[in-house]
Amino acid sequence: MKRAVFLDRDGVINELVYLPEHGLLDSPANEAQFTLFPRVGEALRKLSQSGYKLLIISNQPGIAKRHFSPETFARVRAKMKQELKKQGAALDGEYYCLHHPEAKVAELQVSCDCRKPAPGLILQAARENDIDLKSSWMIGDGLTDVQAGKSAGCRTILLGKMKCELCHLMEENGSRPDAIAADLREAAEIILSGEQNGNLH
Ligand SMILES: [Zn+2]
Repeated sequence: MKRAVFLDRDGVINELVYLPEHGLLDSPANEAQFTLFPRVGEALRKLSQSGYKLLIISNQPGIAKRHFSPETFARVRAKMKQELKKQGAALDGEYYCLHHPEAKVAELQVSCDCRKPAPGLILQAARENDIDLKSSWMIGDGLTDVQAGKSAGCRTILLGKMKCELCHLMEENGSRPDAIAADLREAAEIILSGEQNGNLH
């Protein structure tokens, strides 16, 4: 069996987009809004060279909410692959939950088991790619990523700055990550340095 690093997409691979009219951060709604974080390619390349399969695990309810069309979504994915390729990196798979409980598109209005924090998408990706979950990692910028990763049996890394209101929440819902990192590059270093020291198994 193989090992994997499961990756949330928005806020991990690419920047979130600030929507001033709603005062919040959201997924890019088109390819022009899609910007890779610096040195993501380098981090992914190192993980891949160390034998990790790289699998995106992402909630993308934008089609369900009519924020963008399936065609636009496809163009965003194409741009991601193209930008990663320029940096010498490639993904091994992409898994998206397109559902939302309050979707405007009727066929996507589903209470599914693939929307994080549920682990369904990680379990599916593991099955289809022959992945050993215990020797795999989930990296995300939200507690729902940590919850999904833990429920699936992976180790987890939360990206972001440690805030203590978050500590409290982590204890309450059992979503404390194994590590916290500033960005994907630092997360990759944590995974790879643990291996060199042999202290993770
Ligand atoms: Zn789903």
